[in-house]
Amino acid sequence: MSRSASLTLQRRLTRPVKVGSVVVGGDAPISVQSMTNTDTRDIASTAGQIAELAEAGADLVRVSCPDKEAAQCVAQLVKGSPVPLIADIHFDHKLALMALDGGIDCLRINPGNIGSRQRVAEVVQAASLRRVPIRIGVNAGSLDKDLLAKYGEPCADAMVESGLHHIRILEDLNYQEIKISLKASSVAMTVEAYRKLAKQVDYPLHLGITEAGGMIPGSVKSAIGLGLLLSEGIGDTLRVSLSANPVEEVRVGFEILKTLGLRTRGVNIISCPTCSRQEFAVIDVVAQLEKRLAHIRESVNLSIIGCIVNGPGEAKECHVGLVGGGGENLLYINGKPQQKIADNKVISRLVEEVELAAKKIREQQEIENSTKNH
Ligand code: SF4
Repeated sequence: MSRSASLTLQRRLTRPVKVGSVVVGGDAPISVQSMTNTDTRDIASTAGQIAELAEAGADLVRVSCPDKEAAQCVAQLVKGSPVPLIADIHFDHKLALMALDGGIDCLRINPGNIGSRQRVAEVVQAASLRRVPIRIGVNAGSLDKDLLAKYGEPCADAMVESGLHHIRILEDLNYQEIKISLKASSVAMTVEAYRKLAKQVDYPLHLGITEAGGMIPGSVKSAIGLGLLLSEGIGDTLRVSLSANPVEEVRVGFEILKTLGLRTRGVNIISCPTCSRQEFAVIDVVAQLEKRLAHIRESVNLSIIGCIVNGPGEAKECHVGLVGGGGENLLYINGKPQQKIADNKVISRLVEEVELAAKKIREQQEIENSTKNH
């Protein structure tokens, strides 16, 4: 029942780093991350959102530490978090030291922006002692003045030069636990920058299109930009930036990886756009199923098709399928027609069948894992 072949070229070889329990780079799965948008100082709300993001599948979560109070909350947030946390820090090296003291799993900080070499060395030493990697995050909107003067305006070459400058500062301190991102709101500039940097260093790359906009434009820009890079084998972790609930960022991130055949997670719903031939309310059924099946982690293919034009063909390729049939819709299991279902029973029956399919996949995976371990 595998519907997706990989669309990607061979993955670029990178030096893996460990963010808590999650490996980024090397041959580790491409991780999906997001960032909380609560006030970090409000521990209950922030911990709640971290849990929601983890539940949605986020492998890593970033929290911003804009001031001392926020950095002081790191210890408690780390303690209660189901996934490794990354502290986002700008300018103030003391905040980085506080986050490290609090047990943070990774820092996002640009070493060239925190002042003297002595300050950078302090952070690097503390990070090194705790084996905590640093993500250099270059953003086209905040390039150094000298680079803007040299290039005239933000561009891919300026971003790459900025990234290499920050990398050199860390390498000079003999520190190589590095990830790097080069984000712009322009998809073309972002893609060019990553392609250029990928040829020059072997550090893992964190992909993202910054300030990508709301749900639809942000998802499209991210899918195209990240999709182009991932299809070329570039990228080790990603964040989709949306002006939306960050849980949506995780969902879109996984959809990008699922579409490229790079990761699997959750139910893959194949549904038709509907037309006057539809025999049941496809759009409404799909919307309800998306909510009712959000808890499924296993990769289950489910087709929901309005009529017999395309219904049987899609259902044959899925774990579970439904083909519209005028109040008597035909249910398929593992590609075979099973029985007719009335419109008012469609949702409950499909949820039941998908949960069953997920359980079987889980059991099969457990058998395979125990065989591998023997
Ligand atoms: Fe219309 Fe049937 Fe095609 Fe759906 S599968 S869009 S209902 S013709």
